[in-house]
Amino acid sequence: MVCDAKEIIEGERVYLWKRCLHHGVQRVLLSDDADYFRRCREVFLKKPEQVFRHNTGVRYGCPYDCGICPDHEQHGCVCVLEITDHCNLSCPTCFASSGPDRVTHRSLDQVRKMLDLIVMNEHEPDVVQISGGEPTLHPAFFEILDECRTRPIRHLMVNTNGIRIAKEEGFAERLAGYAPSFEIYLQFDGLDDSATKTLRGAELSRVKRRALDKLNELNLATTLVATLRRGVNDMSIGEILSFAAAQRCVRGVTLQPVHDAGRNTGFTPETDRLTLSEVRRRVIQDFDVFEHQDVIPVPCHPDCVAMAYAIRGSGDDYRTLSPLTRYVPAELLIEGGRNTIIYEGDAELLGNIGERIFSAFSTGHGPKGAARALGDLLCCLPRVDSPELGYDRVFRVIIMQFLDRHTMDLRSIRKSCVHVATPDGTRLIPFDAYNVLYRDELESTVLAPLRRRVQLPWIS
Ligand code: SF4
Ligand code: SF4
Repeated sequence: MVCDAKEIIEGERVYLWKRCLHHGVQRVLLSDDADYFRRCREVFLKKPEQVFRHNTGVRYGCPYDCGICPDHEQHGCVCVLEITDHCNLSCPTCFASSGPDRVTHRSLDQVRKMLDLIVMNEHEPDVVQISGGEPTLHPAFFEILDECRTRPIRHLMVNTNGIRIAKEEGFAERLAGYAPSFEIYLQFDGLDDSATKTLRGAELSRVKRRALDKLNELNLATTLVATLRRGVNDMSIGEILSFAAAQRCVRGVTLQPVHDAGRNTGFTPETDRLTLSEVRRRVIQDFDVFEHQDVIPVPCHPDCVAMAYAIRGSGDDYRTLSPLTRYVPAELLIEGGRNTIIYEGDAELLGNIGERIFSAFSTGHGPKGAARALGDLLCCLPRVDSPELGYDRVFRVIIMQFLDRHTMDLRSIRKSCVHVATPDGTRLIPFDAYNVLYRDELESTVLAPLRRRVQLPWIS
Protein backbone atom coordinates (compact mmCIF):
# COMPACT_ATOMS: atom_id res chain seq x y z
CA MET A 1 0.00 0.00 0.00
CA VAL A 2 0.99 3.63 -0.32
CA CYS A 3 3.45 4.66 2.39
CA ASP A 4 5.70 7.59 3.20
CA ALA A 5 9.14 7.64 1.64
CA LYS A 6 12.02 9.97 1.03
CA GLU A 7 15.08 10.04 -1.15
CA ILE A 8 18.40 10.20 0.66
CA ILE A 9 21.75 10.94 -0.93
CA GLU A 10 24.76 9.31 0.74
CA GLY A 11 27.95 10.17 -1.14
CA GLU A 12 27.41 9.04 -4.72
CA ARG A 13 24.48 6.79 -3.88
CA VAL A 14 20.79 7.70 -3.78
CA TYR A 15 18.33 5.59 -1.80
CA LEU A 16 14.58 5.44 -1.49
CA TRP A 17 13.74 5.09 2.19
CA LYS A 18 10.26 3.68 2.72
CA ARG A 19 8.42 3.44 6.02
CA CYS A 20 5.53 1.02 5.77
CA LEU A 21 3.15 0.12 8.61
CA HIS A 22 3.05 -3.46 7.35
CA HIS A 23 6.56 -4.11 6.04
CA GLY A 24 8.69 -1.86 8.21
CA VAL A 25 11.57 0.22 6.87
CA GLN A 26 13.07 -0.57 3.47
CA ARG A 27 16.01 1.04 1.73
CA VAL A 28 16.25 0.64 -2.06
CA LEU A 29 19.16 1.86 -4.19
CA LEU A 30 17.87 4.24 -6.88
CA SER A 31 21.13 5.49 -8.34
CA ASP A 32 24.86 5.33 -7.76
CA ASP A 33 25.48 8.64 -9.51
CA ALA A 34 24.20 11.47 -7.32
CA ASP A 35 25.31 14.17 -9.76
CA TYR A 36 23.35 12.63 -12.66
CA PHE A 37 20.37 12.10 -10.33
CA ARG A 38 20.42 15.80 -9.40
CA ARG A 39 20.66 16.90 -13.02
CA CYS A 40 17.60 14.79 -13.81
CA ARG A 41 15.69 16.75 -11.17
CA GLU A 42 17.12 20.20 -11.71
CA VAL A 43 18.13 20.58 -15.35
CA PHE A 44 16.44 18.07 -17.64
CA LEU A 45 12.89 19.14 -16.96
CA LYS A 46 10.33 20.27 -19.40
CA LYS A 47 6.68 21.16 -19.23
CA PRO A 48 4.92 17.85 -19.79
CA GLU A 49 2.43 17.15 -22.56
CA GLN A 50 -0.92 15.73 -21.55
CA VAL A 51 -3.20 13.15 -23.10
CA PHE A 52 -6.17 14.55 -25.02
CA ARG A 53 -8.63 12.60 -22.93
CA HIS A 54 -8.77 11.02 -19.46
CA ASN A 55 -10.31 7.58 -19.24
CA THR A 56 -10.80 7.46 -15.46
CA GLY A 57 -11.46 9.97 -12.69
CA VAL A 58 -9.62 10.61 -9.45
CA ARG A 59 -11.31 8.52 -6.78
CA TYR A 60 -8.88 6.47 -4.69
CA GLY A 61 -5.73 8.43 -5.46
CA CYS A 62 -2.61 7.37 -7.33
CA PRO A 63 -1.81 4.56 -8.20
CA TYR A 64 -5.32 3.16 -7.76
CA ASP A 65 -7.08 5.21 -10.47
CA CYS A 66 -5.30 4.21 -13.70
CA GLY A 67 -5.91 5.44 -16.12
CA ILE A 68 -5.08 7.69 -17.66
CA CYS A 69 -6.56 9.77 -14.83
CA PRO A 70 -6.38 13.58 -14.58
CA ASP A 71 -3.48 13.36 -12.10
CA HIS A 72 -1.18 11.81 -14.68
CA GLU A 73 1.47 14.22 -15.94
CA GLN A 74 2.64 12.77 -19.24
CA HIS A 75 1.05 11.60 -22.46
CA GLY A 76 2.04 8.26 -23.96
CA CYS A 77 5.21 8.53 -26.04
CA VAL A 78 4.77 4.79 -26.58
CA CYS A 79 1.36 3.09 -26.44
CA VAL A 80 1.50 -0.67 -26.08
CA LEU A 81 -1.10 -2.88 -27.76
CA GLU A 82 -0.90 -6.38 -26.29
CA ILE A 83 -2.75 -8.68 -28.69
CA THR A 84 -2.10 -12.11 -27.20
CA ASP A 85 -0.95 -13.91 -24.05
CA HIS A 86 0.43 -16.78 -26.11
CA CYS A 87 4.14 -17.30 -26.76
CA ASN A 88 6.47 -19.93 -28.23
CA LEU A 89 8.89 -19.32 -25.36
CA SER A 90 8.37 -19.39 -21.62
CA CYS A 91 11.06 -16.98 -20.52
CA PRO A 92 12.01 -17.07 -16.83
CA THR A 93 12.03 -13.28 -17.19
CA CYS A 94 8.63 -12.31 -18.61
CA PHE A 95 6.68 -9.46 -17.03
CA ALA A 96 3.56 -10.68 -18.90
CA SER A 97 3.96 -14.30 -17.67
CA SER A 98 3.28 -15.46 -21.23
CA GLY A 99 3.99 -18.92 -22.57
CA PRO A 100 2.83 -21.82 -24.77
CA ASP A 101 0.21 -22.84 -22.21
CA ARG A 102 -1.59 -19.49 -22.45
CA VAL A 103 -3.70 -19.49 -25.59
CA THR A 104 -5.82 -16.38 -25.22
CA HIS A 105 -5.71 -13.90 -28.08
CA ARG A 106 -7.50 -10.55 -28.21
CA SER A 107 -10.28 -10.66 -30.81
CA LEU A 108 -10.16 -8.27 -33.77
CA ASP A 109 -13.06 -6.33 -32.22
CA GLN A 110 -11.12 -5.96 -28.98
CA VAL A 111 -8.03 -4.84 -30.86
CA ARG A 112 -10.04 -2.21 -32.78
CA LYS A 113 -11.45 -0.90 -29.51
CA MET A 114 -7.98 -0.73 -27.94
CA LEU A 115 -6.61 1.06 -30.99
CA ASP A 116 -9.48 3.53 -31.04
CA LEU A 117 -8.85 4.34 -27.40
CA ILE A 118 -5.16 4.97 -28.08
CA VAL A 119 -6.11 7.35 -30.90
CA MET A 120 -8.67 9.13 -28.70
CA ASN A 121 -6.03 9.66 -26.01
CA GLU A 122 -3.17 10.66 -28.30
CA HIS A 123 -4.87 11.83 -31.54
CA GLU A 124 -1.74 11.01 -33.59
CA PRO A 125 0.13 8.49 -31.42
CA ASP A 126 3.91 8.85 -31.71
CA VAL A 127 4.50 5.12 -31.41
CA VAL A 128 2.17 2.15 -31.11
CA GLN A 129 4.01 -0.99 -30.12
CA ILE A 130 2.28 -4.28 -30.90
CA SER A 131 3.21 -6.67 -28.17
CA GLY A 132 2.05 -9.69 -26.19
CA GLY A 133 2.95 -12.51 -25.56
CA GLU A 134 4.52 -13.07 -28.95
CA PRO A 135 2.36 -10.94 -31.25
CA THR A 136 3.44 -12.64 -34.48
CA LEU A 137 1.61 -15.78 -33.28
CA HIS A 138 -1.76 -14.06 -33.25
CA PRO A 139 -3.90 -15.78 -35.94
CA ALA A 140 -4.95 -12.35 -37.27
CA PHE A 141 -1.55 -10.70 -36.91
CA PHE A 142 -1.47 -9.13 -40.37
CA GLU A 143 -5.09 -7.98 -40.15
CA ILE A 144 -4.09 -6.20 -36.96
CA LEU A 145 -1.20 -4.50 -38.74
CA ASP A 146 -3.68 -3.44 -41.43
CA GLU A 147 -6.01 -2.05 -38.75
CA CYS A 148 -3.12 -0.04 -37.34
CA ARG A 149 -2.32 1.33 -40.76
CA THR A 150 -5.83 2.75 -41.15
CA ARG A 151 -5.23 4.96 -38.09
CA PRO A 152 -3.06 8.09 -37.74
CA ILE A 153 -0.16 6.33 -36.03
CA ARG A 154 3.20 7.98 -36.70
CA HIS A 155 5.38 4.94 -36.06
CA LEU A 156 4.42 1.30 -35.65
CA MET A 157 6.58 -1.25 -33.84
CA VAL A 158 6.34 -5.01 -33.45
CA ASN A 159 7.86 -6.30 -30.22
CA THR A 160 9.04 -9.83 -31.06
CA ASN A 161 11.41 -12.59 -30.03
CA GLY A 162 12.23 -12.98 -33.74
CA ILE A 163 11.59 -16.73 -34.02
CA ARG A 164 8.97 -16.42 -36.76
CA ILE A 165 11.15 -13.92 -38.66
CA ALA A 166 14.08 -16.35 -38.50
CA LYS A 167 12.23 -19.53 -39.35
CA GLU A 168 9.39 -18.72 -41.70
CA GLU A 169 10.18 -18.14 -45.33
CA GLY A 170 8.73 -14.87 -46.60
CA PHE A 171 7.63 -13.60 -43.18
CA ALA A 172 10.22 -10.81 -42.92
CA GLU A 173 9.44 -9.79 -46.51
CA ARG A 174 5.76 -9.47 -45.65
CA LEU A 175 6.64 -7.34 -42.61
CA ALA A 176 8.80 -5.12 -44.78
CA GLY A 177 5.67 -4.27 -46.76
CA TYR A 178 4.57 -2.11 -43.81
CA ALA A 179 7.65 0.16 -43.98
CA PRO A 180 8.35 3.06 -43.70
CA SER A 181 7.43 4.24 -40.18
CA PHE A 182 7.52 0.59 -39.20
CA GLU A 183 10.04 -1.08 -36.94
CA ILE A 184 10.94 -4.42 -35.44
CA TYR A 185 11.63 -4.27 -31.73
CA LEU A 186 13.75 -7.41 -31.46
CA GLN A 187 14.51 -9.13 -28.16
CA PHE A 188 18.31 -9.49 -28.08
CA ASP A 189 20.02 -10.15 -24.74
CA GLY A 190 23.53 -10.95 -25.91
CA LEU A 191 25.69 -12.45 -28.61
CA ASP A 192 26.00 -15.97 -27.22
CA ASP A 193 23.66 -18.39 -25.49
CA SER A 194 24.69 -17.79 -21.89
CA ALA A 195 22.34 -14.85 -21.32
CA THR A 196 19.45 -16.28 -23.31
CA LYS A 197 19.62 -19.55 -21.37
CA THR A 198 19.20 -17.67 -18.11
CA LEU A 199 16.74 -15.00 -19.22
CA ARG A 200 14.82 -16.91 -21.92
CA GLY A 201 15.27 -20.54 -20.90
CA ALA A 202 16.58 -21.45 -24.38
CA GLU A 203 19.61 -21.21 -26.65
CA LEU A 204 18.58 -18.53 -29.09
CA SER A 205 21.73 -16.92 -30.45
CA ARG A 206 21.52 -18.65 -33.86
CA VAL A 207 17.86 -17.81 -34.24
CA LYS A 208 18.55 -14.14 -33.47
CA ARG A 209 21.40 -14.02 -36.00
CA ARG A 210 19.20 -15.57 -38.66
CA ALA A 211 16.43 -13.06 -37.95
CA LEU A 212 18.93 -10.20 -38.12
CA ASP A 213 20.38 -11.48 -41.40
CA LYS A 214 16.93 -11.27 -42.94
CA LEU A 215 16.24 -7.83 -41.47
CA ASN A 216 19.63 -6.60 -42.73
CA GLU A 217 18.92 -7.90 -46.22
CA LEU A 218 15.71 -5.89 -46.23
CA ASN A 219 17.21 -2.98 -44.27
CA LEU A 220 14.04 -3.10 -42.21
CA ALA A 221 14.32 -0.70 -39.26
CA THR A 222 15.13 -2.67 -36.12
CA THR A 223 15.78 -1.85 -32.48
CA LEU A 224 17.58 -4.47 -30.43
CA VAL A 225 16.15 -4.78 -26.93
CA ALA A 226 18.33 -6.23 -24.20
CA THR A 227 16.95 -7.15 -20.81
CA LEU A 228 19.85 -6.76 -18.39
CA ARG A 229 20.48 -8.64 -15.21
CA ARG A 230 23.55 -8.14 -13.04
CA GLY A 231 26.06 -10.95 -13.46
CA VAL A 232 24.21 -12.34 -16.50
CA ASN A 233 24.77 -9.80 -19.28
CA ASP A 234 25.57 -6.41 -17.75
CA MET A 235 29.20 -7.09 -18.66
CA SER A 236 28.16 -7.49 -22.33
CA ILE A 237 26.67 -4.03 -22.88
CA GLY A 238 29.65 -2.76 -24.89
CA GLU A 239 29.70 -5.93 -26.98
CA ILE A 240 25.95 -5.68 -27.71
CA LEU A 241 26.27 -2.01 -28.74
CA SER A 242 29.28 -2.66 -30.98
CA PHE A 243 27.48 -5.57 -32.62
CA ALA A 244 24.36 -3.44 -33.11
CA ALA A 245 26.36 -0.60 -34.69
CA ALA A 246 27.67 -3.04 -37.30
CA GLN A 247 24.15 -4.09 -38.41
CA ARG A 248 22.79 -1.98 -41.23
CA CYS A 249 19.15 -2.44 -40.20
CA VAL A 250 19.66 -1.50 -36.56
CA ARG A 251 18.50 1.99 -35.63
CA GLY A 252 19.32 1.59 -31.98
CA VAL A 253 19.47 -0.48 -28.83
CA THR A 254 17.16 -0.31 -25.85
CA LEU A 255 18.74 -1.46 -22.59
CA GLN A 256 16.24 -2.50 -19.95
CA PRO A 257 17.45 -3.48 -16.49
CA VAL A 258 15.23 -6.31 -15.23
CA HIS A 259 11.89 -5.03 -14.08
CA ASP A 260 10.81 -7.18 -11.13
CA ALA A 261 7.25 -7.98 -12.14
CA GLY A 262 5.40 -10.97 -13.53
CA ARG A 263 7.48 -14.13 -13.92
CA ASN A 264 10.97 -13.24 -12.84
CA THR A 265 12.41 -16.56 -11.77
CA GLY A 266 15.70 -16.65 -9.91
CA PHE A 267 15.86 -12.91 -9.34
CA THR A 268 17.15 -11.66 -6.01
CA PRO A 269 16.45 -7.93 -5.76
CA GLU A 270 19.18 -7.25 -3.21
CA THR A 271 21.92 -8.64 -5.47
CA ASP A 272 20.55 -8.73 -9.02
CA ARG A 273 19.07 -5.25 -9.49
CA LEU A 274 20.79 -2.87 -11.87
CA THR A 275 20.19 0.86 -11.77
CA LEU A 276 19.94 3.17 -14.77
CA SER A 277 23.07 4.99 -13.62
CA GLU A 278 25.10 1.76 -13.62
CA VAL A 279 23.94 0.89 -17.13
CA ARG A 280 24.70 4.44 -18.27
CA ARG A 281 28.23 4.14 -16.92
CA ARG A 282 28.72 0.84 -18.77
CA VAL A 283 27.56 2.45 -22.01
CA ILE A 284 30.15 5.19 -21.57
CA GLN A 285 32.98 2.89 -20.43
CA ASP A 286 32.43 -0.12 -22.65
CA PHE A 287 31.28 1.43 -25.93
CA ASP A 288 33.78 3.64 -27.62
CA VAL A 289 31.31 6.16 -29.04
CA PHE A 290 29.54 8.03 -26.27
CA GLU A 291 30.91 10.13 -23.42
CA HIS A 292 29.21 11.45 -20.30
CA GLN A 293 27.70 14.50 -21.99
CA ASP A 294 26.19 12.33 -24.74
CA VAL A 295 23.99 10.11 -22.55
CA ILE A 296 21.30 12.44 -21.24
CA PRO A 297 18.03 12.10 -19.35
CA VAL A 298 14.86 12.17 -21.44
CA PRO A 299 12.80 15.05 -20.09
CA CYS A 300 9.41 13.29 -20.22
CA HIS A 301 10.57 10.88 -17.52
CA PRO A 302 14.16 11.66 -16.54
CA ASP A 303 14.23 9.24 -13.57
CA CYS A 304 13.57 6.28 -15.80
CA VAL A 305 14.77 7.05 -19.34
CA ALA A 306 18.16 8.14 -20.66
CA MET A 307 19.23 8.39 -24.27
CA ALA A 308 22.18 8.94 -26.55
CA TYR A 309 21.94 9.65 -30.26
CA ALA A 310 24.48 9.23 -33.01
CA ILE A 311 24.35 9.76 -36.73
CA ARG A 312 25.50 6.89 -38.92
CA GLY A 313 27.78 7.50 -41.85
CA SER A 314 26.12 7.36 -45.24
CA GLY A 315 26.12 4.43 -47.67
CA ASP A 316 28.72 1.76 -46.95
CA ASP A 317 30.08 3.91 -44.14
CA TYR A 318 27.04 3.14 -41.98
CA ARG A 319 29.19 1.70 -39.16
CA THR A 320 30.73 5.11 -38.43
CA LEU A 321 28.88 6.81 -35.58
CA SER A 322 29.02 10.52 -34.72
CA PRO A 323 27.33 11.45 -31.42
CA LEU A 324 24.73 14.10 -32.02
CA THR A 325 25.42 15.92 -28.77
CA ARG A 326 28.92 16.79 -30.04
CA TYR A 327 27.26 19.00 -32.64
CA VAL A 328 24.03 19.99 -30.98
CA PRO A 329 23.98 21.00 -27.31
CA ALA A 330 21.89 18.71 -25.15
CA GLU A 331 19.73 21.73 -24.22
CA LEU A 332 18.68 22.11 -27.84
CA LEU A 333 17.71 18.48 -28.00
CA ILE A 334 15.58 19.04 -24.92
CA GLU A 335 14.05 22.34 -26.00
CA GLY A 336 13.96 21.99 -29.74
CA GLY A 337 11.29 19.38 -30.14
CA ARG A 338 8.10 18.08 -28.70
CA ASN A 339 8.29 16.24 -25.45
CA THR A 340 8.86 12.75 -26.75
CA ILE A 341 11.58 10.15 -26.86
CA ILE A 342 11.06 9.56 -30.58
CA TYR A 343 13.03 12.53 -31.81
CA GLU A 344 13.69 11.08 -35.22
CA GLY A 345 10.04 11.52 -36.17
CA ASP A 346 10.00 15.15 -35.10
CA ALA A 347 10.23 17.44 -38.09
CA GLU A 348 10.50 20.54 -35.92
CA LEU A 349 13.48 19.14 -34.08
CA LEU A 350 15.19 17.81 -37.16
CA GLY A 351 14.81 21.23 -38.72
CA ASN A 352 16.42 22.83 -35.69
CA ILE A 353 19.25 20.36 -35.68
CA GLY A 354 19.94 20.93 -39.33
CA GLU A 355 19.96 24.69 -38.89
CA ARG A 356 22.10 24.48 -35.81
CA ILE A 357 24.66 22.22 -37.42
CA PHE A 358 24.76 24.44 -40.48
CA SER A 359 25.13 27.69 -38.58
CA ALA A 360 27.67 26.24 -36.14
CA PHE A 361 29.97 25.37 -39.00
CA SER A 362 29.37 28.33 -41.25
CA THR A 363 29.81 31.20 -38.79
CA GLY A 364 31.82 34.01 -40.36
CA HIS A 365 31.64 32.58 -43.88
CA GLY A 366 29.89 34.02 -46.90
CA PRO A 367 27.58 31.70 -48.87
CA LYS A 368 30.51 30.03 -50.67
CA GLY A 369 32.54 29.71 -47.49
CA ALA A 370 29.54 28.36 -45.70
CA ALA A 371 29.10 25.72 -48.35
CA ARG A 372 32.78 24.80 -48.03
CA ALA A 373 32.53 24.69 -44.23
CA LEU A 374 29.57 22.39 -44.50
CA GLY A 375 31.51 20.35 -47.02
CA ASP A 376 34.32 20.02 -44.49
CA LEU A 377 31.81 18.95 -41.91
CA LEU A 378 30.85 16.05 -44.13
CA CYS A 379 34.13 14.40 -43.17
CA CYS A 380 33.16 13.99 -39.56
CA LEU A 381 29.40 14.10 -39.87
CA PRO A 382 28.81 12.73 -43.31
CA ARG A 383 26.06 14.16 -45.47
CA VAL A 384 23.99 16.04 -43.00
CA ASP A 385 21.44 17.16 -45.55
CA SER A 386 19.51 19.41 -43.25
CA PRO A 387 16.67 18.99 -42.59
CA GLU A 388 16.17 15.57 -44.20
CA LEU A 389 18.12 13.43 -41.82
CA GLY A 390 16.67 10.04 -42.66
CA TYR A 391 15.81 7.46 -40.03
CA ASP A 392 18.32 5.01 -41.55
CA ARG A 393 21.07 7.41 -40.37
CA VAL A 394 19.99 7.21 -36.72
CA PHE A 395 21.68 5.12 -34.05
CA ARG A 396 19.99 5.60 -30.71
CA VAL A 397 20.71 4.07 -27.32
CA ILE A 398 17.86 4.22 -24.82
CA ILE A 399 18.19 3.08 -21.23
CA MET A 400 14.73 2.36 -19.92
CA GLN A 401 14.33 1.47 -16.28
CA PHE A 402 10.76 0.64 -15.39
CA LEU A 403 9.57 1.13 -11.83
CA ASP A 404 8.78 -2.14 -10.08
CA ARG A 405 7.51 -3.37 -6.73
CA HIS A 406 10.71 -2.16 -5.04
CA THR A 407 11.16 1.23 -6.67
CA MET A 408 7.54 2.30 -7.23
CA ASP A 409 7.42 6.01 -6.49
CA LEU A 410 4.19 7.94 -7.05
CA ARG A 411 6.00 11.16 -7.95
CA SER A 412 7.79 9.28 -10.70
CA ILE A 413 5.05 7.00 -11.98
CA ARG A 414 2.86 10.00 -12.84
CA LYS A 415 5.44 10.83 -15.51
CA SER A 416 5.40 7.38 -17.08
CA CYS A 417 5.20 7.78 -20.86
CA VAL A 418 4.69 4.12 -21.80
CA HIS A 419 0.96 3.37 -21.61
CA VAL A 420 -0.68 -0.05 -22.08
CA ALA A 421 -4.20 -0.44 -23.48
CA THR A 422 -6.33 -2.75 -21.34
CA PRO A 423 -7.90 -5.73 -23.17
CA ASP A 424 -11.42 -4.30 -22.83
CA GLY A 425 -10.31 -1.09 -24.57
CA THR A 426 -11.51 1.21 -21.79
CA ARG A 427 -8.29 2.33 -20.14
CA LEU A 428 -4.63 3.08 -20.79
CA ILE A 429 -2.42 2.28 -17.84
CA PRO A 430 1.20 3.33 -17.23
CA PHE A 431 3.30 0.26 -18.02
CA ASP A 432 4.97 0.15 -14.60
CA ALA A 433 1.67 0.31 -12.70
CA TYR A 434 0.09 -2.20 -15.09
CA ASN A 435 2.67 -4.89 -14.35
CA VAL A 436 2.62 -4.39 -10.59
CA LEU A 437 -1.08 -3.76 -9.92
CA TYR A 438 -3.38 -4.20 -12.92
CA ARG A 439 -2.28 -6.99 -15.25
CA ASP A 440 -4.52 -10.08 -15.47
CA GLU A 441 -5.72 -11.11 -12.02
CA LEU A 442 -3.59 -8.53 -10.17
CA GLU A 443 -6.39 -5.98 -10.34
CA SER A 444 -8.74 -8.23 -8.34
CA THR A 445 -6.19 -9.95 -6.09
CA VAL A 446 -3.74 -7.13 -5.30
CA LEU A 447 -5.30 -3.81 -6.26
CA ALA A 448 -8.88 -4.34 -5.01
CA PRO A 449 -7.84 -5.09 -1.38
CA LEU A 450 -5.55 -2.04 -1.44
CA ARG A 451 -8.37 0.16 -2.68
CA ARG A 452 -10.57 -1.06 0.16
CA ARG A 453 -8.03 0.27 2.64
CA VAL A 454 -8.09 3.77 1.17
CA GLN A 455 -9.96 6.09 3.49
CA LEU A 456 -11.02 9.24 1.76
CA PRO A 457 -13.99 11.31 2.86
CA TRP A 458 -15.76 11.01 -0.51
CA ILE A 459 -15.57 7.19 -0.56
CA SER A 460 -18.46 5.66 1.37
S1 SF4 B 1 -0.23 6.30 -12.28
FE1 SF4 B 1 -1.05 8.01 -13.45
S2 SF4 B 1 -2.96 7.25 -14.30
FE2 SF4 B 1 -2.39 5.86 -12.65
S3 SF4 B 1 -3.47 6.67 -10.86
FE3 SF4 B 1 -1.40 7.56 -10.88
S4 SF4 B 1 -1.65 9.52 -11.90
FE4 SF4 B 1 -3.47 8.29 -12.40
S1 SF4 C 1 9.40 -12.31 -22.59
FE1 SF4 C 1 8.56 -12.27 -24.67
S2 SF4 C 1 9.41 -14.10 -25.64
FE2 SF4 C 1 9.63 -14.40 -23.46
S3 SF4 C 1 7.78 -15.53 -22.77
FE3 SF4 C 1 7.39 -13.33 -22.50
S4 SF4 C 1 6.38 -12.72 -24.38
FE4 SF4 C 1 7.40 -14.68 -24.82
